[in-house]
Amino acid sequence: MLCLTDIIRDHEPSLQPLLRAIAETPTLTAMLVAAWPLARVLALQVVAAVLKERAGRPTSWPPCPVCGARLESKGFVERQVTSLFGRLRWRRRVGRCPRGCSLPAIAPLDAALGLAPYQRSSGELQALGCALAVFVPFATAATLLGWYSGRRVSPGAVWEWVQAAGQQAMAVLQGQLDALAAGEMPLVEPLDAAQAAMPLVIGADGVMVPLRPVAGTPKGQTSWREVKVGILARLGQQRTRAGQVVPRLYQRRLVAVLGTIEALKPRLWLAAVRQGITRAPRVVWLSDGARGLWGVFEEYFIAYATGVLDFYHAAQHLWKGAAAWLDGRTTAARRWFEAARHRLRHGPPAEVLAELAAAVEGEGLPATARATLLKVYAYLDQHRDHLDYAAYKALGLPLGSGMVESACKWLIQQRFKGVGMRWSETGFDHLLHLRLAWVNGSFETLFQIRLQPSPNK
Ligand SMILES: [Zn+2]
Repeated sequence: MLCLTDIIRDHEPSLQPLLRAIAETPTLTAMLVAAWPLARVLALQVVAAVLKERAGRPTSWPPCPVCGARLESKGFVERQVTSLFGRLRWRRRVGRCPRGCSLPAIAPLDAALGLAPYQRSSGELQALGCALAVFVPFATAATLLGWYSGRRVSPGAVWEWVQAAGQQAMAVLQGQLDALAAGEMPLVEPLDAAQAAMPLVIGADGVMVPLRPVAGTPKGQTSWREVKVGILARLGQQRTRAGQVVPRLYQRRLVAVLGTIEALKPRLWLAAVRQGITRAPRVVWLSDGARGLWGVFEEYFIAYATGVLDFYHAAQHLWKGAAAWLDGRTTAARRWFEAARHRLRHGPPAEVLAELAAAVEGEGLPATARATLLKVYAYLDQHRDHLDYAAYKALGLPLGSGMVESACKWLIQQRFKGVGMRWSETGFDHLLHLRLAWVNGSFETLFQIRLQPSPNK
C-alpha cells in the first residue's frame, strides 16, 4: 500500500527535494520547519486545481458598463495574487466590449472569487497582516508574514492593508452612529444569563499620543494629543488559585476617539446601548476627577448609572486639605488625614464634608490654607452623590477607577507609544479602529473570515 509520501514522490518528482529536506533533518522542530514549504506547495496546487476547474466552466458575460452590449471573451489571461501560502497563479477568461468601449478587461471569475480588479494579495494574508499589526510594528508584522508565506512582504504593504481595513472599520462605525442619531436603536449584544445578571461598569479616561506636527513629514516637534477612551464591561468575580475572590471584567468593550469629549459621547452611548445599559440590573459609572468626563456622565448616563468618584482621587484631595490646614510635615496633618480617609471610606459622606466645613471655620487659619480647604470642600461637595463608598462596597461595586484607567492605557500604550513612534492623524485613526475591532471581537466580521476554530470541533 502506498502511503501519502510515496504518492507525492511518485506523482510529483519536483517535490523530491522538499521531501528529502524533511527526511534529512535531525530534530523535530527543524523537521516541521522543513515541512512547511512542502505544505505551501501542496496547498497552492490544490487551490490552483480548483481555480482551473472553475475557470474552465462556461462564463456568463455581463453587459458592457458603458454601452450595454454583452461583453465577449478575449481568451485566457494569467492572474496572480500573493497568498499566505505564497504566490498563487491561475488563468481565467477576460472579456472586452465588442464595440470597442475603452474599459479595463473584465474577468467575471475574479469578481465571483471576491477579488478586486487590482488586488495583489489575498484576503487571508491581509487579515493576518492586519491582526499582527494590531500588536507589533508594521516591519515586524511583514517579517512574520514573510516567514509563513515564503515570500517577502513589505512593511508598506501591511501598512496599506491596515489603512484600507481601518477606514472600513471607521465607515462601519460612522454608519452605526448615524443610525443612532436618526433614532434607530442598535442591536444589543447577546450575553449569557450569568453575565446579564452582573453590573455593567462604564468609565472613560484620556491618554496622550505622539503625533506628527505636519502631515506627510516626520519633521518638527512631536505634537501630543489626547485620545478619549471609554470602557464598558460586566463586573464579575473570580477565585484565584490562592482562594482569594477578585473582581474580573467580562465582555469588555472599548471605544476611543482622537478628538473632543463631544466626539466621545455618542460613541460611548452607542456602545452602552449595545451592552444593554437599559436592561442591566445595575450600572456603575467610574471616573477620576476629570470634569469633562463627569459631564458625559451627567448628559448621558445619570438616569441609568450610579456615579462613583475614584476613592484614591477623593482621598488625594483630603490630603491636600490636611496639608494646607495642618502643615503636611506634621503628625497632626497625617493623623487628621488618616481619620478623614477612614470616615470617607466607611461612613456617610456628610460626616467628612461637615469636618471640612468645621476646619474652614477654624480660628487663626492663614488665608491660603483657608482657600485650599474651601476648594477641597467645594470639590467633594460637588461629588457628594458619588462618595458613598460604604454603600458601594456593600453592593460589591469597585471604589477605584483603576481597572478603567489600565484598560484605557493598555489600548494606546502597548502599540502607539513605542520608542520613536509618531503618527499621522489618519494613520493613527486607522490602526486604532482595527485595534478596537480586535479587542471588541469584531475583527473577523470586518474581514469576513473566520479564523477561530468553532468551540465544538
Ligand atoms: Zn461597450
